[in-house]
Amino acid sequence: MKITAIRLTRLNLPLDPPFNAAWDPEPRRAFPATLVTVETDEGVVGYGSGDTMDGFEAFEHLFLGTDPLQIINQVRRIETINFHGGRYWPLEAALWDIIGQVAGMPVAVLFGGARDRLPAYASSGELLAPEARAESALAAKAVGFRAMKIRIARDRTDEGIAAVRAAREAVGDDFDLMVDLNQMWRMSGDIEAALPLAKVHRLAAELAELGVLWLEEPLPQVDVPGAQRVRAQTGLQLSGGEMVRSLPEMMALIEQDAFDIYQPDVALAVGMYRARQVAESANLRHRFFTPHTWTNGLGLLANLHVAAGVDAGPYLEFPYDPPGWTPERRDFFMTPITIDPHGDVVVPDRPGLGVEIDHDAVAHYTV
Ligand SMILES: [Mg+2]
Repeated sequence: MKITAIRLTRLNLPLDPPFNAAWDPEPRRAFPATLVTVETDEGVVGYGSGDTMDGFEAFEHLFLGTDPLQIINQVRRIETINFHGGRYWPLEAALWDIIGQVAGMPVAVLFGGARDRLPAYASSGELLAPEARAESALAAKAVGFRAMKIRIARDRTDEGIAAVRAAREAVGDDFDLMVDLNQMWRMSGDIEAALPLAKVHRLAAELAELGVLWLEEPLPQVDVPGAQRVRAQTGLQLSGGEMVRSLPEMMALIEQDAFDIYQPDVALAVGMYRARQVAESANLRHRFFTPHTWTNGLGLLANLHVAAGVDAGPYLEFPYDPPGWTPERRDFFMTPITIDPHGDVVVPDRPGLGVEIDHDAVAHYTV
């Protein structure tokens, strides 16, 4: 089989009202996405998305005429480009979509087939006042979620703790809460200092009192000793690694026992094939793997297949913070992914990734 064409379709969904992501200093008034379509000489077509693919046109020729089924060669090819420029993992997702269709199986089966569904956590994204965040947690619980992640801004930690406390009081103890400080990577141009270790330590101790399941990326990536101290002294689980730039970087964190939960995104960080190795390495050391998924619905789907295949846990991230972030906005160019009444996200049982592209939406939002 040969790749005959790789098409990048640039999409842009206007957001009105805007979405105020906690990690972004500017309100988001539009949501861009790039849909990767890979065509083959045998008529099989694969789709991927989840990163911008900016600059890919300069490297497209390296893939045309190659065999999409030789996936390790394709992964290595993508990694040679990562070294110099952008990370083109959405292409790998499209190739796995092809491989799954050729095999006649969901990609999750090719990754181990451990599960056909995973419990989802509502991953919120906005900084809300305590009362509003408590209401949102109750609403998430009412639609079936068994867990929610809450963002705390590094310059508003008291308010953040108050929001977690309010959510805990609202939902009770039979609902998991996680907290994300987003200190391990930065939006371009964000040069403010990270929280000092002593402050993170106090924050973690308060979150442990509130029964938080894990604290995500509380420190810069280099501060592995700090993360280990916080874990040892508070008993709180720490997670991280959603945006690491390579597999060796991720493996070094695992070998140092930096975290309890490792979260590389298959669309943004290490790709799908390499994420399986991360999962196996973490599991062998009695640690968790569960990927970051905050891109768009097709990125979420690629992460879901890997996560279900390798038995990720304890939950899968499900970006969800209505009205700012809904499955309809997140998945605007495809049939939206939803949770079932038990709070599980179910792996599509169609061959490949099982995405249902909404071609009318693609045509409408193409820029
Ligand atoms: Mg995070």
